[in-house]
Amino acid sequence: MSSIDPPEGWPARAAALRPTLDGFVDGESYASGDRARFACINPATGAAFAELAAGTETDADHAVAAARRAFADGRWRDLPPAARRQILLRWADRIIVAGAELALLDTLCMGKPIAQARFDVELAAAAIRFAAETIDKLNDDVLPTGAGSLALNLREPVGVVAAITPWNFPLAIAAMKCAAALAAGNSVVLKPSEISPLSALMLARHAAEAGLPAGTFNVLPGLGSTIGAALARHRDVDMISFTGSTETGKAILRSVGATHMKKLSLECGGKSPCIVLADCTDLDAVADDVAMQICWNAGQVCSISTRLIVEAPIAAALAERVATRMALAVPGDPLDPASVMGPLASRAQYEKVLRYLQQGIASGARALCGGAEADPSAAGFFVRPTLFDGVDPASPIAQDEIFGPVLALLTVADADEACRVANGTVYGLAGRIWTDDLRKGYGLARQLAAGSVVVSAKRPTDPGPGFAAGMEAAKQSGFGIEGGMAGIRAFTHLKAITINL
Ligand code: NAD
Repeated sequence: MSSIDPPEGWPARAAALRPTLDGFVDGESYASGDRARFACINPATGAAFAELAAGTETDADHAVAAARRAFADGRWRDLPPAARRQILLRWADRIIVAGAELALLDTLCMGKPIAQARFDVELAAAAIRFAAETIDKLNDDVLPTGAGSLALNLREPVGVVAAITPWNFPLAIAAMKCAAALAAGNSVVLKPSEISPLSALMLARHAAEAGLPAGTFNVLPGLGSTIGAALARHRDVDMISFTGSTETGKAILRSVGATHMKKLSLECGGKSPCIVLADCTDLDAVADDVAMQICWNAGQVCSISTRLIVEAPIAAALAERVATRMALAVPGDPLDPASVMGPLASRAQYEKVLRYLQQGIASGARALCGGAEADPSAAGFFVRPTLFDGVDPASPIAQDEIFGPVLALLTVADADEACRVANGTVYGLAGRIWTDDLRKGYGLARQLAAGSVVVSAKRPTDPGPGFAAGMEAAKQSGFGIEGGMAGIRAFTHLKAITINL
């Protein structure tokens, strides 16, 4: 038994779990009247274990109206900053206390290994704490004027924020987004992914128990085509903060353009590069990091490196090291704390990844580990991690976001070619650079079209800036700042007030 195991064991705890399936609106449980349902499928078994309402426009109207009332009467935004800070800190504490259940809900819905789901609970609580601590530090500006006037630049909350989130970090992304929006003084309506809605339903309940006023944080489970689309076109929503695929991001853009010009932040897909230069001496450290990233959450992470761009002299040596490590990441039962990889999150995702694996083989790429065969003995959506060599940089496996444990090795002649290849997709989310020459690494980092870049010369030992780092994606990975103080300010609008004395 691992130290994170509940005493009765994860499978027993999962069997006893009776998850909350209703939304949470205006401080109380909210059951949609919709008879259309959708199922939560455990991707480790392929079996449905919960059914929720698909949701209707009426549900969206109800939640938005509650959020509007809460915003309009100032029950949250007008509280003293220290009081708001305390409430969010209490919320983070409650998330930690409920951590085992929250982790289990994510593991059951989308197959994340339980140890990683436990890590996400820590991440969620840390994100809420970061947001809480910004509340009494978000200063406004007094602007320079002559003696006859006083001019202020004030950051005001936007109003009603609709947060629309994906399934790959169900708890953590919802917590980060909603805590930032709440810290800025807004009211929130959260629409979690239909694949993994259950932890988000608990998130809002814990916030209410921590003292967040009713109506300030509402959650509606439902489909993207019903609740998501209704929020995107809703005329009383002031801002959409979306994380998900580029395709859905574009649909939301169209919808917002066709209705009214609400504020919009889109965090979308990625196909991030990891550039490894030939001067790199610690190839084992590089291989550890590359293999860990592509297997984490079964490769279903927006910002991980899915293209390994390597200078020719070290390509073979690095490929061998990475393939050996990836082959060790055998997918297993996500409820086993020893599992490093679980299944893919859904049948659709599984079929998509298998299609790309077959396409990769058909295009002439060579699988150094893994390959296109699914495990026919498994009922769930398991695939082995695959490293492709001999990949054409223009081919779909090098260009498209696959969102699975599939890594494309691209061999290049020098750093200039590495940079050209790295920037040669429609995405611009993140990047990694390995070189012993940090001056060169910094130069490359400046040239990458990416929201965030990590440059390393050796095995990372420092956790880095964490939530203090703000970033904005480039190209079709979206726009709008997330993270850091800038990410809190992104949920405000800037007002200038001039008083003629
Ligand atoms: P998705 O776009 O299918 O769904 C995301 C959310 O949008 C879900 O809640 C869904 O119900 C909702 N939705 C779907 N159609 C909608 C519509 N027409 N209007 C409004 N909402 C709608 O994405 P996904 O499959 O859940 O998540 C995987 C994607 O998310 C990947 O592309 C990944 O890169 C991206 N992602 C990006 C980041 C980032 O920080 N950039 C982080 C995590 C995931």
